[in-house]
Amino acid sequence: MIVLLTEKMARKELVEYGRLLYDRGLTYGTAGNLSVRIDHDDLLITPSGACKGFLIERDLVRISISDGKTTGGGRPSIEVPFHTALYKHRKDVGAVVHAHPRYCTVIAVAGIPLRTGLTPEGVLVLGPVPLVPYETPGTDRLAKKLAESKHDANAFLLERHGAITVGKDLPEAYHRMETLEFAAALQVISASVGEAEELTKREMTRILTSIGRQKQ
Ligand SMILES: [Zn+2]
Repeated sequence: MIVLLTEKMARKELVEYGRLLYDRGLTYGTAGNLSVRIDHDDLLITPSGACKGFLIERDLVRISISDGKTTGGGRPSIEVPFHTALYKHRKDVGAVVHAHPRYCTVIAVAGIPLRTGLTPEGVLVLGPVPLVPYETPGTDRLAKKLAESKHDANAFLLERHGAITVGKDLPEAYHRMETLEFAAALQVISASVGEAEELTKREMTRILTSIGRQKQ
């Protein structure tokens, strides 16, 4: 179930998690964008061309989910189309994080699947991660391809681009991005010390049914 904050609290949270994303090296320069659903109709999103480490609360832009238009002032991120597409198609999504973390982007540029089955955490926190075929950033075509990929995924890689995570709220979406980058780093680095096997399907099922149930 999604968690709705007041607009004031959502602005504060976006500033805090933007700073964390930048400080933890999950994004760099002005790359990446974050959004939070504030009610049935509107979301708040980070502005275009701003470093996520130095946002202030009034920088966040309020957008209508139905048509992607601003309902206040400001210039939003160019990736409004995929943010609104996720909120429209997923009633379980309360927040979206997009970044270009180093190892996620290595895998997305190589165009190879992310192997989340290497660790129990990857199975439990992430599950299968679709690789969304390349489209020009900021376009409706990219939003359409994302919407057409796996409907209940917690995380996505964008071919030759970066990563997206979703959550019931911003802390959950952010923590999934950290976990996604850890899984990507594990896959890239472990390849240099030998072939790593994924957990068996039986063990993945055991993890999801036992630990997964306890966490609910
Ligand atoms: Zn991007």
